[in-house]
Amino acid sequence: MQLNERQQKIVEIVKENGPITGEQIAQELSLTRATLRPDLAILTMTGILEARPRVGYTFVGKRNSSMLREKLDSLTVGDFMSSAKVVRDEMTVYDAIVTLFLEDVGSLFVVGRDRELVGVLSRKDLLRAAIGNQDLDQLPVNVIMTRMPNITVCEKTETLIRAGMKLIEKQIDAMPVVEEKDGKLIVLGRMTKTNMTKVLIALANDESI
Ligand code: ADP
Repeated sequence: MQLNERQQKIVEIVKENGPITGEQIAQELSLTRATLRPDLAILTMTGILEARPRVGYTFVGKRNSSMLREKLDSLTVGDFMSSAKVVRDEMTVYDAIVTLFLEDVGSLFVVGRDRELVGVLSRKDLLRAAIGNQDLDQLPVNVIMTRMPNITVCEKTETLIRAGMKLIEKQIDAMPVVEEKDGKLIVLGRMTKTNMTKVLIALANDESI
């Protein structure tokens, strides 16, 4: 949040002179206490100033941006991931396309017998195969998928920020959430750009997340 000029002045006054009463701040600014009321309300609600009865205003020292950063750093992939839509590596491309529609997802994760990650199929991977001159009913997905070890993954304990940065850097829509077991990556869930957008909306609505 951007503070207006008067709010910035109030913060400076409280920083230097706090604890200070609203009346005293008003005097410093040659304004009435009533005029300042909305600004003081904003500054206390956002946590920049603290108002103590019979003491006055003190500077808390944290700007919104650092509070938001702290909040974001506390959110992890495990709290926001969705269930993973996985398909077996021997599934045909035709069936994978049907699954994509039935599950209403943008990408599918391809797994082996022990649910270990072997590949990823995106919408465009499937479209590319569909416009090629191939028999989709015979073609297994493991021929067209992006395969391990080139898959970008994340873990439940990772911060949302780190996961979001991976999605942007790698220009992908989704990542499998995995845990390592006997040298294999087992798929636990998925983290997508939609998950990220939901977090953003929840933060904006100040839901207790
Ligand atoms: P689309 O291809 O529908 O735009 P993506 O941007 O997610 O969807 O995928 C782009 C390419 O990156 C595809 O070839 C896909 O197989 C691959 N891909 C998707 N997700 C991952 C991932 N987590 N790790 C590595 N490659 C991925």
